[in-house]
Amino acid sequence: MPDDIAIRLPMQRSLGTARQPAEGISPLLAREGHSRPRSLYIHMPFCTHKCHYCDFYSIVDTRDRQQAFTDRLVRELTTLAALAGPIDTIFVGGGTPSLLRPDLWRRLLAALDDHYDLAALRSGSAEFTVECNPETVTPELVSVLVEGGVNRISMGAQSFDRRHLQTLERRHDPDRLPLACQHIRAAGITRLSIDLISAVPGQSIDDWDRDLRTALALRTEHISAYTLTYESGTAMTARLHRGEFAKASDDLEADMYEHTVAVLRDAGLDRYEVSNYARPGAECRHNLAYWRQDFWLAAGPSASAHVAGWRWKNTPRLDEYLGTDDDGFAPICELEQPDPTRALMDRLMTGIRLREGVDAARAIRDATRIGKEQELRAAVHAAEKNAWLTASGDRWSLTDAGFLFADRVAADLIGALI
Ligand code: SF4
Repeated sequence: MPDDIAIRLPMQRSLGTARQPAEGISPLLAREGHSRPRSLYIHMPFCTHKCHYCDFYSIVDTRDRQQAFTDRLVRELTTLAALAGPIDTIFVGGGTPSLLRPDLWRRLLAALDDHYDLAALRSGSAEFTVECNPETVTPELVSVLVEGGVNRISMGAQSFDRRHLQTLERRHDPDRLPLACQHIRAAGITRLSIDLISAVPGQSIDDWDRDLRTALALRTEHISAYTLTYESGTAMTARLHRGEFAKASDDLEADMYEHTVAVLRDAGLDRYEVSNYARPGAECRHNLAYWRQDFWLAAGPSASAHVAGWRWKNTPRLDEYLGTDDDGFAPICELEQPDPTRALMDRLMTGIRLREGVDAARAIRDATRIGKEQELRAAVHAAEKNAWLTASGDRWSLTDAGFLFADRVAADLIGALI
């Protein structure tokens, strides 16, 4: 990597009206011991409609900005390529990436091929995932994606029950799912993940069971099964506060969660993260990189990166993203310098959600460095006493019971560092 890029990164990228000082960024990648990011996230902001539960950055696609967006994205990716190592994982999320026109996808994929080391992708050892909406998966699109190296599709199903899709204001026809999967398989992509949401208002455990079994019948190797959360600022939360529906009870949420674990385990999909299940070897490697707090680059509006302990987030505004070109860098809205306490907190917060858990010796070493060893040991001990955590061997990991309290365990461990 040219040194000037490491030094210029924070100077060139404006944070509001402020400019960031260069001090501290030089170790970004140039310093010994820091590996270059091998993962890349790309955010596409377009959707056909705003689902009521959604708090991702997305806007309704009017089709007239896809070209400008792709031009800008390619410029950003070209600049960021100087920071990247050989690529192991790419994840294109959104938004609805499958809404982008096939000709623009072709351009984007060619730019990735031109500027990044994709040898592992060509040899079949890397993972390239694109999120798709069943309505927008066409044979043409899928063949362009396959040609560009995409080998995994994450399908946003959420439910197969029209009533629950309507409650979520998720506008797609559930009957399109099998057809979309057919297109994907016909093009040669065998790695398929399906997203589902449980605890939708009015959803019974039988309804949820049907959703799980319908997803399994599509021969998916991976399921992300999230419990509906009411994020602030979403239409769903406003409707809840207006009394339009009742939230599922905590007991029902827990029953659905335990049912998910049992049904998917019986079908050969093991829980490897609180909400993620996979056949052995089919875990999402890109998301594992996040949860393990590896480094990754990020492009597109609202995308967040983590490089050499630095974290930054691109502006979540398409106009600003399109209108600001800082030698290719996108304007950012958040920037965090490396901080040992924050780094340990992040590792505990996401690592504890994984079945593999957290490297205990490393956590203790890092807690000792910030003078919090005793506090962290006490928090681990308390979680063990509750039978939520096992601290045997060299890992701290959740017990089956502890998975139901993952947020609480993470909060207690993090709280010990404050
Ligand atoms: S399709 Fe996905 S990103 Fe778009 S609004 Fe719905 S949930 Fe959000």
